[in-house]
Amino acid sequence: MSDHSPSCAEKAPAPAANFIRNLIDEDLRTGKWGGRVETRFPPEPNGYLHYGHAKSICLNFGLARDYGGACHLRFDDTNPEKEEQEYVDAIIEAVSWLGFDWGKHLYFASDYFETMYQCAVTLIRAGKAYVDSQPADEMRRLRGTLTEPGTDSPFRTRSADENLDLFARMRDGEFAEGTHVLRAKIDMASPNLNLRDPVIYRIRRVPHHRTGDRWCVYPLYTFAHPIEDAIENITHSICTLEFEDQRPFYDWLLAALADAGMFARPLPQQIEFARLNLTNVVLSKRKLVQLVDEGHVAGWDDPRLPTLIGARRRGFTPEGFRLFAERIGVSKADSWIDMGVLEECMREHLNDTAERRVAVLDPLKLVITNYPEGGSEACEAANHPLKPELGKRTMPFSRELWIEREDFMEEPAKGFRRLYPGNRVRLRYGYVVECTGCEKDAAGNVVAVHAEYFPDSKSGTPGADTYKVRGNLHWVSVAHGYRAEIRLYDRLFAHPHPGARREGDPEGLERSFLDDLNPESMRVIDAWLEPALRAARPEERFQFERHGYFVADRIDSTDGAPVFNRTVTLKDSWSNENKAHSRG
Ligand code: ATP
Ligand code: MG
Repeated sequence: MSDHSPSCAEKAPAPAANFIRNLIDEDLRTGKWGGRVETRFPPEPNGYLHYGHAKSICLNFGLARDYGGACHLRFDDTNPEKEEQEYVDAIIEAVSWLGFDWGKHLYFASDYFETMYQCAVTLIRAGKAYVDSQPADEMRRLRGTLTEPGTDSPFRTRSADENLDLFARMRDGEFAEGTHVLRAKIDMASPNLNLRDPVIYRIRRVPHHRTGDRWCVYPLYTFAHPIEDAIENITHSICTLEFEDQRPFYDWLLAALADAGMFARPLPQQIEFARLNLTNVVLSKRKLVQLVDEGHVAGWDDPRLPTLIGARRRGFTPEGFRLFAERIGVSKADSWIDMGVLEECMREHLNDTAERRVAVLDPLKLVITNYPEGGSEACEAANHPLKPELGKRTMPFSRELWIEREDFMEEPAKGFRRLYPGNRVRLRYGYVVECTGCEKDAAGNVVAVHAEYFPDSKSGTPGADTYKVRGNLHWVSVAHGYRAEIRLYDRLFAHPHPGARREGDPEGLERSFLDDLNPESMRVIDAWLEPALRAARPEERFQFERHGYFVADRIDSTDGAPVFNRTVTLKDSWSNENKAHSRG
């Protein structure tokens, strides 16, 4: 297959082979599913989606896209306690933002409660489920351990009729919570604890965010999930590795229901892959909740938090996430991905698409002493060095300019090529200037730099090329610049594995992930920006030359007064430090 397209942004990266694709290819070859590929992304609406979910979303929706199939967005809302509509809405927004479309396939597990109940009744009739009325601690005790088999419940031999009667009365609300549960009848001596008669229904007198108080019995996740897959005719049910031990139950349950005529074969196949572990963040809902609740970050959409709404505010792009998912691939082996890989994917996409602008983050005044007082003129700057189709904008040049403080040294260090007395540099898109000195305050701090310009050196004019200089500085006209707040974001945790033990830690020392928070993960500064940036729309992304990629904040920007967040720096400044960290 030869493919030669002009821009990498337009071209979806060719999918790399992986064990899941191999499996699907084999199913297509044997005709197992008649050519159908149907996957699902099944979030529980009890929190905001994070970068780890993005891996799963890109995988499931990506497979459906590449094989001409469908991917369902299914809310796994079988637990009434922690689920809320707010999360449903946020999840829908996040999946769309990532660029995926479920078409008509939007489902709620709670819509299947009646079918799930009928599945349970079917199991009872088939002698494969029973109502257990032991106290919870007794049930736990009789379950056995990894090395010892469990013991049958005294209620295990109840007749199907008695079980049907009790289960119906559980549903009708006759019993208190905890008095009865429904269990699958499999094998109390199984070496796999998940097969020792797992509980499949329990009484819960809690209203559900969608079904209200219609139900007081709720299915357990491990029972509900395979049924959801079967109802929706899912072909490949992809989940993370911690469910590997549940697969025998997944298969047992669907086979039992197929034998009883509830579902047709072939039955959905559960396939496990390694979850995303990413350095310098935490991807566990519990820890994310803690960071928000204890105020370590400003909220769920804090740009430092690895949530997708945080990422969006940070300026990360859907294209960057999709590239990342392709690049890290999927495997069966747990591993850690360096945050630098994700940042590099964002950089690649932004480098391709973001228009260039100029910003001075640490301003020092430069006075061009031979430039007319009160005068100004336009300089032209390309919006993108490689994309003339993105056009140009003008930047006003005048006698007083802001430059970066670090671009001047009164006593130049060895190899310093920027401004120092007697040296010439080009003011990018403008003139060549020669530094003539500086002004200092009483304390000896440099408060202004002086220079003279060469009127025949303006960029883009015929004489410009005769000036050979080695420094090339960016600048903003003092009289025209736009002063704005900029948030310089950095990694949330300074250590790649927050809370992990370090070599040499004394025995018994407990570290908390909170101890590894990076105190410099956010710095707020006032910067001087070129006037064109005043017009930036919320979520518009730019490269600030020499500084990195920035986005106009989608919440705090107002019309004509955007504020900016740093998405990523131009280069990975962490990789060396990481090496230092891992050396201990
Ligand atoms: P957590 O364990 O952090 O609370 P979760 O798995 O409970 O997350 P769900 O809403 O159940 O959150 O997840 C929806 C889907 O996203 C599941 O299929 C799950 O396997 C997948 N997923 C969750 N975390 C990751 C991760 N770190 N990497 C890849 N996939 C993930
Ligand atoms: Mg889960």
